[in-house]
Amino acid sequence: MPELPEVETVARDLRPRLVGATIVGARTNWVRTLRSQDPVAFADGVTGRSVDAVGRRGKQVVVELSGEAALTVHLKMTGQLFVVPADLPEDPYVRLVLELADGRELRFRDIRKFGKIGLYGRDPVTGELVEEIGGRSVFAGVGPEPLDDAFALRDFRRRIRRRKGRLKPLLTDQAFLAGVGNIYADEALWRARLHPLRTASSLRPPDERRLYEAVRQVLAQAVEARGSSIDDYTAPDGDGSMQERLDVYQRTGEPCRRCGHPIKRIVIGARSTHFCSFCQRLSAADRKGAVAILRSMTGGARRRGRRWTQLDDGRQTDPDTTARMERTRRAAATRRAAARASAGS
Ligand SMILES: [Zn+2]
Repeated sequence: MPELPEVETVARDLRPRLVGATIVGARTNWVRTLRSQDPVAFADGVTGRSVDAVGRRGKQVVVELSGEAALTVHLKMTGQLFVVPADLPEDPYVRLVLELADGRELRFRDIRKFGKIGLYGRDPVTGELVEEIGGRSVFAGVGPEPLDDAFALRDFRRRIRRRKGRLKPLLTDQAFLAGVGNIYADEALWRARLHPLRTASSLRPPDERRLYEAVRQVLAQAVEARGSSIDDYTAPDGDGSMQERLDVYQRTGEPCRRCGHPIKRIVIGARSTHFCSFCQRLSAADRKGAVAILRSMTGGARRRGRRWTQLDDGRQTDPDTTARMERTRRAAATRRAAARASAGS
């Protein structure tokens, strides 16, 4: 799923294409793409407004509209946004279209249909985006933006010291930090040399500092690299390149770039987690609880009869997994290229 760097890249690519454009209509091809599930009200609500700005909050693109309103776009698994000439044929995966006065269209393409688009008003007093009914703030439960200049180490310390639980699920909790997901949580933990199952309460001040810096560094580098083009993620100006610079994510069995030991994969809360068990060790205090999680995971792999092979260089890998991942990676690259070609951006 696209995380902070990928969504930031989409917003930046859209900005020069959309700011100043006027919306003259909307077509909804898949009603559940709309949070309101009301295509008529949505079209009425956007028509006649112009785009003032394009930004991001957490994992959502925010399109600021004239007249104190905004669109939020959550790309979820496979969402893509393209601005194209209106006469370009529309492929069957386009779920929603905004028609622009200058003969172009903003198209939301989403193969798996998990993406969500909302139209919100802005509270005249607080300036926050609010639901039209009930007035609840849209981003009320979302944590701070980790790349904000104002987000200092002491803020991170204050937040993490209030939290219990283990680091991997904590980092991906949007209420703790906005925009961090599976890829960059794994990468930040590797950089900070912290085990994903370590508890937040066991961190010492230097650990907190390393984690804070690792989160910010990996996100900033990924924004610079236009994100990681894994699966269907692409942006109007093309793919990202961060996937080539990831240290642990989807590198199961490959040697750790720091110590050479094979990268391990475990499942925590139904999410894949990648780490180096040699340079991301568990403290004695955390080992006890984590052992049960790790043992159940290993037992599961054994029951499924997975065979691990020892390579000549000492790496352990599973040839089926490696081959499948390579096929998936190639298929995704082909799909993204086809999407961009058909979108003509
Ligand atoms: Zn290592």
